[in-house]
Amino acid sequence: LMQISIPLNFIGFLYREIRQGLADIESMFDLLLVPAEIKDKPGAGDLQAVEGKIAFKDVRFHYDPDRPILKGIDFEVPAGKTVAIVGPSGAGKSTISRLLFRFYDVTDGAVEIDGQDVRDVTQESVRHAIGMVPQDTVLFNDTIAYNIRYGRPDASEEEVREAARMAQIHDFIEKLPQGYQAEVGERGLKLSGGEKQRVAIARTILKAPPILILDEATSALDTHTEREIQSALDEVSQNRTTLVIAHRLSTVVNADQIIVLEAGEIAERGTHLELLDKGGLYASMWARQREADEAEERLRAAREND
Ligand code: ADP
Ligand code: MG
Repeated sequence: LMQISIPLNFIGFLYREIRQGLADIESMFDLLLVPAEIKDKPGAGDLQAVEGKIAFKDVRFHYDPDRPILKGIDFEVPAGKTVAIVGPSGAGKSTISRLLFRFYDVTDGAVEIDGQDVRDVTQESVRHAIGMVPQDTVLFNDTIAYNIRYGRPDASEEEVREAARMAQIHDFIEKLPQGYQAEVGERGLKLSGGEKQRVAIARTILKAPPILILDEATSALDTHTEREIQSALDEVSQNRTTLVIAHRLSTVVNADQIIVLEAGEIAERGTHLELLDKGGLYASMWARQREADEAEERLRAAREND
């Protein structure tokens, strides 16, 4: 029995180690967004991101040659302004954010920041200029403080705490037995989707970059927490160029421009009021969201009366 259980244990141990190793590598890629196929041009200089103006110029993109995803996307975000992208799931919204971050290169057309094609400058300088709260955050296997400070390694302890407060995660951290020194990630404490999202928001608040990408940044939060964080996000996005991909339309009402993406094409664009007036896709999405919100409200009221 001994003879057999030792090797089996050992195999189990090896299996877990290898699987963990792979998970670590995966998280690194997700967090740093460094796909192997994107390489800097020889002698590429740094992005000179002074203003933070974004331009997508007739951008076409596919992951797989026989399935075009973006079919000619043209838009600009003037420095300091907010553009929202809405549309059905699978329309290509997150793909737009990945191209801006240069997670992938465009198939045709160009993505520019302050007039510089992102393919002509170093990826590091592009990533430095952008703060991204992705749809799914993967944390480093390190302390929660490290995960927040990653946004700005020279930040003081108090600045880390202040960012955590703004992201509504400070109280949660303080209640952990090891507080800010608690180990998180695959090997440590497993955080919920909403908690991870708040860590990513704290990191971005701390980084305070010229350009912000919020990809359904509050989708894993309950309505109450979402509302509280929204004001912190509104504050960071003040005077910063912001690309917000929204799931909940109420968060885009104040955007300078709303782009409605459908199957890789811009179906409509305008302000909230202009799009409601138009009575098209956005107006029907808005009406549907209102109905869903009201139904949810009735359900909650009924539950409270029970
Ligand atoms: P959205 O954010 O609007 O829901 P995405 O930009 O994530 O949409 O995806 C657009 C389309 O591209 C979807 O059909 C999706 O399945 C596909 N897609 C996304 N990522 C990849 C990938 N890494 N490889 C292949 N197809 C992908
Ligand atoms: Mg998406």
